[in-house]
Amino acid sequence: MLFKRILPVLLLLTIVVYFIARYNGPEPGLITAIDKSNLEEFWKISDVAVEEGQFHLEKESASITSRFRLRDFELSLKMKTTPGAVGQLNFATSKRNWGKIRGYSVMINNSDYSTGNVQKTGSLSKIRNNFIRTAADNEWFDLKIEVHGNHIHVSVNDKLISEYTEPLNAKRLEGLTGMVLSRSFISLRKTSATGEMLVGEMKIKPIVEEENRKILAIQTDSLADVADSLNQREFPLIDFHVHLKGGLTMDQACEHARTNGFNYGVAANCGLKFPVTNDSTLNSYLKSIAVEPVFKAMQCEGREWVTLFTPEAVAGFDYIFTDAMTWTDHKGRRLRLWMPEETFVDNDQEFMDMLTGKIEAIMDGEPVDIYVNPTFIPAQLQSRYDELWTNERMDRVVNALLRNQVALEINARYKIPSIAFIRKAKAAGVKFSFGTNNVKNDDLNRLEYCLKVIKEAGLTAEDMFMPRSRPERKILKKGLPSAITG
Ligand SMILES: [Zn+2]
Repeated sequence: MLFKRILPVLLLLTIVVYFIARYNGPEPGLITAIDKSNLEEFWKISDVAVEEGQFHLEKESASITSRFRLRDFELSLKMKTTPGAVGQLNFATSKRNWGKIRGYSVMINNSDYSTGNVQKTGSLSKIRNNFIRTAADNEWFDLKIEVHGNHIHVSVNDKLISEYTEPLNAKRLEGLTGMVLSRSFISLRKTSATGEMLVGEMKIKPIVEEENRKILAIQTDSLADVADSLNQREFPLIDFHVHLKGGLTMDQACEHARTNGFNYGVAANCGLKFPVTNDSTLNSYLKSIAVEPVFKAMQCEGREWVTLFTPEAVAGFDYIFTDAMTWTDHKGRRLRLWMPEETFVDNDQEFMDMLTGKIEAIMDGEPVDIYVNPTFIPAQLQSRYDELWTNERMDRVVNALLRNQVALEINARYKIPSIAFIRKAKAAGVKFSFGTNNVKNDDLNRLEYCLKVIKEAGLTAEDMFMPRSRPERKILKKGLPSAITG
């Protein structure tokens, strides 16, 4: 008797499972463009206007969602945004937005820095955040998302932006446990009420051969765990001070950043007797790296740089920075503090007072965004760092940074400033940036000191520097001083 009652239920369940499991999307292994002929069959659109083969998403929560489920696929879109438009490409996600995070989201947002959402197009949100502008409003761009096995690739305009290999039993913070790969729906959704998102072309290549699925093994360690957890908290893990020196190429730098879950700011050394030494070399340098997915930074060298460039040219960089390691002392000697043979310390206390005064003069006089290699003192004094950086001297530096809105670099290579210095600056409201200042292609490291400081000084996303929007750039608002600052 029992059997008779269970049988129909089992049968029904089998049918339900069959229909859920059945793949009913575009032909596997082939690239299918979404157009009027197959739109209804494969996709469900909501608040989307179709005009001349283009999809217009204007309303908040306008969406295009697949009727089929896929785990592995290649999806490419030709898109355009107008100012204010923000969207997400979701995969491994549920059909409806139930308020619970499920699957992964790729950000679509081309706003200027320090404007709108901090994450920009191509960001694999909360997993491998991208803070670098990779596309601009009112311009067509290509977005490609590939999921093969446990590997996710996101590229914008053919540049790999985010890359992630999902480990077995991926560690997720509370509330994010649903952020894992699964055979599920793909959905493009507008999330802002302003602007318009246009899709000119959308192509999908479904991959359904599960037996061929390659699952990559990945190695994790405690540093990778810290970087993962910071990404999940949307902490801007950015190394703003990297140089293409000692054989390091742009591709190697970008790969290192992707692997470790960072973003990079690549800096050109600009100044007297440097490769970038006037507006014309500056402009051609910027042009040569325009398409690279890194922040574009200017390291202002020596003190003479203020006389070599125009503010308009300098404003082509996303941000500019300098250190206080090169200056002329009261006896007229030009010091370079990292070179023992070019450093003169006649009297320790006098030297420290002079250095503090130079830092103040530079921050007051030069319109820089970040003070890098900060609080560096010559080799012969380094063992007495804590004693020589007295409270009074630290306060003077902190005040100079505050009144000029200059961020303080936490330098991974020199492991400076000290935690005490950083705590003082944080309490005063100074913003921070991370920087490695590598000299070769094998000393990029993994921001070890910065990660330690985040924990020990309790840094949050709000404490961190972000490049200014173009109209807010200091170099444009303040201009350049008429004479060098010493
Ligand atoms: Zn540097």
